[in-house]
Amino acid sequence: MGCFYQEGLRFTCQSGCRYCCGVEPGFVFVSQDDIRRLCLYLQLSTNEFLQRYCRKVPMGSISYVSLVERENHDCVFLNQQGCGVYAARPLQCATYPFWPTVLADKKSWELEADWCPGLGKGELHTKSEIDKLLAMREGVEPAVWDEVFA
Ligand code: SF4
Ligand code: SF4
Repeated sequence: MGCFYQEGLRFTCQSGCRYCCGVEPGFVFVSQDDIRRLCLYLQLSTNEFLQRYCRKVPMGSISYVSLVERENHDCVFLNQQGCGVYAARPLQCATYPFWPTVLADKKSWELEADWCPGLGKGELHTKSEIDKLLAMREGVEPAVWDEVFA
């Protein structure tokens, strides 16, 4: 059976929505590369960045690094204008909605569209663009807290 997005998929973030950056509880996991890029962008040391903007998320015997979530569930970097670190945002954010789970099949894409109003709208992303975004996430793991916090 052919890939369901052979002809590409439409997606354009709808300004003012902000749903995936807040509103509901969630995790924004960051990889070691994300941390390096964000530290450079914010001119912070790794420990300063972790202490100010990250939280430890235990999963079994390992704790991963996620961005802090405010009490209202907004991401710590979300402000009135949108993402405050847009140019250096985590890969998880930069590749949304072209995630393996969302692209698993047509049904998953349609289910995601129930809560993200940008899916199916606006810019047409070709299969090759989408596959490149998928490839960018291959082998990328969330940073392990004890491995990055000195
Ligand atoms: S949920 Fe979709 S439309 Fe809303 S901010 Fe996120 S990507 Fe944009
Ligand atoms: S880092 Fe930026 S794009 Fe990612 S969830 Fe936070 S505000 Fe949204």
